[in-house]
Amino acid sequence: MSIVTALARPEILTLKPYAHAVWRPSLIRLHANEVPWRPDADVTEAGLNRYPEPQPQALIARLADLYGVPTEYVLATRGADEAIDLLSRIFLRAGQDAILQATPAFGMYQVSARIQGAAVLDVPLDAAGGWSLDAAALLAAWRPNVKLVFLCSPNNPTGNALASGALEQVCVALADKAIVVIDEAYVEWSRAGSLTPWLARFANLAILRTLSKAHALAGARLGALLAAPELIDLARRVIPPYALAQPTIEIALKALSPESLRAAQLRRAALLDERAGLAAALRASPLVARVWDSDANFLLVDCHDAERFLASTLAAGLIVRDVRGYPGLSRSVRVSIGTGADNERLLHSLARTA
Ligand SMILES: *Cc1c(COP(=O)(O)O)cnc(C)c1O
Repeated sequence: MSIVTALARPEILTLKPYAHAVWRPSLIRLHANEVPWRPDADVTEAGLNRYPEPQPQALIARLADLYGVPTEYVLATRGADEAIDLLSRIFLRAGQDAILQATPAFGMYQVSARIQGAAVLDVPLDAAGGWSLDAAALLAAWRPNVKLVFLCSPNNPTGNALASGALEQVCVALADKAIVVIDEAYVEWSRAGSLTPWLARFANLAILRTLSKAHALAGARLGALLAAPELIDLARRVIPPYALAQPTIEIALKALSPESLRAAQLRRAALLDERAGLAAALRASPLVARVWDSDANFLLVDCHDAERFLASTLAAGLIVRDVRGYPGLSRSVRVSIGTGADNERLLHSLARTA
């Protein structure tokens, strides 16, 4: 039995998926109870009166190309958030199973697990080592009911990439024990490369990607679950048949054209320069105790007085994220890198307060 089959909920393995209207674009559609006219305000090519193509072939091909994996390894989702939810629903049995995460961690892992009725086990990242992953400690915390291990690299909210050696150790040790989910929502900002080449090695690996951050498409809601075909097949059964909206499909296809990808790359490079400038200026602020090195489009900032930092930015019309509720971050805020003008305004607000 494969690891995916061994771990998946039995109900999902035997689920007969919803049979959606057959996709035969050359034929006149009288099989899906659609209406034959376009609504006002319809700017799509395909027509909003029509149900969209489920897992559109052209989009899946572009995503596979972008991420360097075969098309059978790709499921397009409504953001990486939906991929987290799908994994939870495929693997976690209510009242029995658990996830394991390295904290401070992105909040959706535990929310999806708890919605599914599963438990959440935490292992702290090592702050003294720059929020590094202690693979031995993580593996020691594994229990037989842990089906999913969530690791985020670069990590939100700390901003650092996790060492590939530690991630590899986890994938190897859990090869026949758990699905290791590596969330690469921010990997395009990092010097660390994506781990998608590992998908050919590890049947227990799932990687999350998104167009929300690196491609500036948070409002379109498009992410990807990348995993071995066996896992993708299960996820296809669970995802709603018409998950992706037609405007999103069309916009994403444009955003993934070679010209748009080149333009996005240039803008990311410029933002990384902004990040360096903002980090240096924040380090010089008397309100700031520490700015952590970042592999993402945000900075984790430890404050001498987080309340004052938050108040002064808010007074200047800026909102940064209060992350003091996360384990280990009792005096931290998370700042997304904005435009040069936004960042200047942030620094001015702090200078006025200090
Ligand atoms: C933003 C984010 C996501 C979710 O992105 P979507 O917009 O749902 O694609 C996933 N993981 C992490 C760590 C994030 O910060």
